[in-house]
Amino acid sequence: MLQRSAWLLSILFAWSACALAEPLAPLSIGSAERLLVFAPHPDDEVLGAGGIAQRVLAQGGSVRIVIATAGDGFVEAVQREARYARPSVHDYLRYGATRLTEARHAVRMLGNGRVQLDLLGFPDGGLQPLLHAHWQRERPERSNTTGVSAVPYGEAEFPNRGYNGAELAAELAHELRQIRPTLVALPDPLDSHPDHSALGLFALMALRDWLHERGHGEETPNAPRWPRLLTYLVHWPGNWPTGANAAKPLDLRATPLPLPADWPRRNRQHPCLSLQPREVEIKQAALGQYQTQQRAMGPFLAAFVRSTECVSVLTERDVEFIWEGLPRRRAVLSQYVGNAADASAPH
Ligand SMILES: [Zn+2]
Repeated sequence: MLQRSAWLLSILFAWSACALAEPLAPLSIGSAERLLVFAPHPDDEVLGAGGIAQRVLAQGGSVRIVIATAGDGFVEAVQREARYARPSVHDYLRYGATRLTEARHAVRMLGNGRVQLDLLGFPDGGLQPLLHAHWQRERPERSNTTGVSAVPYGEAEFPNRGYNGAELAAELAHELRQIRPTLVALPDPLDSHPDHSALGLFALMALRDWLHERGHGEETPNAPRWPRLLTYLVHWPGNWPTGANAAKPLDLRATPLPLPADWPRRNRQHPCLSLQPREVEIKQAALGQYQTQQRAMGPFLAAFVRSTECVSVLTERDVEFIWEGLPRRRAVLSQYVGNAADASAPH
């Protein structure tokens, strides 16, 4: 589950000199925003944007959350739940179904029933292979844990949809067309978890498709040509967030959670939303609905229950760059990382 891409990490570690030195800027949320949250696994939507989603609702906006996988590839957790070393495909499928049910409860808690949740049911641990090796419908990916090559969950948005990159990109673009978001929260492509970085790239590609479909229609405050793109971070090397590796969950609710000191600046803004105590409480309660994850990594979840949510703001330039790299998908991420390194040089 926490397998990391060694080549990516080696580049990221080299950025340790590019520290975030600027003071925290506030993240502004307008009235009547339409927020679309893309999450790789059930729980990431709360970890990365649980406070932002609450604030959008409080200010008269709407929120839709899209969770790409069922979290059915968390081998150590399934071993623990099943109580044997070699769980069957049925154990993994049951675990995925449980996590999807937990997601329904968590999102209901987060938005008091006002958030729409779409579950896609793609393979946990399989988003990067979708990006690199299984783009075509004729060559679907087969999940290492559940053994299936199409969405097996009846409560998913599109059951039986094939596991391939084209289908995932199409589903994300479909969400964008439906919501016409003014605000998009997505995993940062530099997150050290391969599913997170891959979904970030898929989301940027879908955004590019959607924006070009729209053409240059009239821009209004309620239909801006360009939504604000906020990327959130969940996995980073080292002891981030503090408390994540503690023996038991720590109470850090009154403590801000800044981005890591060595987070690449990419010449972008990195604003933070200050959460009100009630918003922190609700975020904690929503995470409490993920019982399987509380048992598997309670201290990690608790480390995100903090008084701030900090994000990076990407631009049209990031989206166009990803698109230009599309024909060479294997190289897209390394090129993106290279560009980010240039942009993060001291200036
Ligand atoms: Zn995740």
